Amino acid sequence: MKPNTQDTSSILVVGAGPVGAAAALSLAERGYQVILVDRAPPQPGAAAFGMDVRNVALSPRSAALLQNIDAWPRQAAAYRSMRVWEERGSSALDFAAASVNRQELGWLVEVWPLLERLWQRLEAHPKVQIVLGATQRVTPGQHGVVLTLQQAQAGADAHQAAPVDLSADFLIACDGASSAVRENLGVPLRHWRTGQMALTTVVRTQHPHGHTAWQRFLLDGPLALLPSKDPHLCSIVWSQSEDKARARLALDDVDFCRVLTRASEGCLGEVQAVGPRQAFALHQQLAATAYPHARALLLGDALRVIHPLAGLGVNLGFEDLQALLDFLPPDTDLGTAGRWDKYARQRLLRSELVLRSLDGLRRLYAQDNPWVGWLRNAGVGWFGRRQWLQRKAIEEATGLRDLSA
Ligand SMILES: Cc1cc2nc3c(=O)[nH]c(=O)nc-3n(C[C@H](O)[C@H](O)[C@H](O)COP(=O)(O)OP(=O)(O)OC[C@H]3O[C@@H](n4cnc5c(N)ncnc54)[C@H](O)[C@@H]3O)c2cc1C
Repeated sequence: MKPNTQDTSSILVVGAGPVGAAAALSLAERGYQVILVDRAPPQPGAAAFGMDVRNVALSPRSAALLQNIDAWPRQAAAYRSMRVWEERGSSALDFAAASVNRQELGWLVEVWPLLERLWQRLEAHPKVQIVLGATQRVTPGQHGVVLTLQQAQAGADAHQAAPVDLSADFLIACDGASSAVRENLGVPLRHWRTGQMALTTVVRTQHPHGHTAWQRFLLDGPLALLPSKDPHLCSIVWSQSEDKARARLALDDVDFCRVLTRASEGCLGEVQAVGPRQAFALHQQLAATAYPHARALLLGDALRVIHPLAGLGVNLGFEDLQALLDFLPPDTDLGTAGRWDKYARQRLLRSELVLRSLDGLRRLYAQDNPWVGWLRNAGVGWFGRRQWLQRKAIEEATGLRDLSA
């Protein structure tokens, strides 16, 4: 199978999660013929109080990218400030959008409405073909790439499924943490276990969240309460040891609310109700290269997976995409040897920097040693008194300034 027309370069985008779907749409908007591949169309996740339990915090830079392709979901909920404090400390950090002359620091975005909006746009786009199937093999050549897919047929079981070959000039892999493209291209992977799981859900709280994102570093892992459009509903991302996560998943709702009220130090009063709870094993990983072949790039979680404590994963994936769009050559051949060397070096450096910083932060806050605790507190207090440093941190976190660029 080939793209509809051959008058412009064709690109295979593998994986239609947030990064792949946004990549396919952005490239189609630039005039490329795009074939977007995924195993299945997106499905709504578990819901609570009318909200998708799967949420991501998006930075202003990610918002701008999605707005540019008219894919910004109207359910996005802005947060204007952030409070960070810790279990053992007396100092807290407060970040306000107003300090960098902005209305908001970021948005809480439900994953299902985001994917639904992206898919609506993709299905209507004349330059996009969507093909459903699972990657079986990737064969890159001098002049193009062939992707062999296993397509499930109606009424057939997996063994009867027919393989289909798709070909294009270039391939962009956005097929997530277990990327089959990355594996097919033999890209080595570094992997760091955190020994943690993230417990996620949506809760109703006694006091309104005040459009503030709350993050408390507990010795066992960080707990985030992220504000939704409803003043009393927050999305929870609670990283913790695997044993504790399993035990807390098993609690009944009343006991879980009590435990969460205590863990959040009652910052929003009592946690009054909780939606379905889910838990994900947390690890960090980084591919050895973002550019495994002259005709293939890795983006998003296919390139690196990071701890969710800073809510940066999909934001980094959108950063990959923005950098790719900025590097797009004016002529049509995307696969000239070495074309993406600089892009790949920058993305790898950025990934390594974020990954190591998050690992360091996680380890620092997990230290129970009183001397380390004292130093941490002193450091937070010192940082809290330096407005210019806080402004720089906000600019970095919101994507207004990229420290590694
Ligand atoms: C608890 C938790 C909280 C998080 N919170 C945040 C946050 O607040 N902010 C943030 O920025 N990030 C957050 N993240 C990270 C974020 O969810 C990921 O970085 C993001 O989903 C990666 O998007 P992606 O499109 O690269 O990959 P994915 O979302 O994994 O999408 C990959 C796509 O590829 C498809 N696919 C996979 N294999 C194949 C195959 N063999 N053939 C065909 N298709 C295939 C899949 O079906 C899927 O659609 C969080 C993560 C966790 C675990």
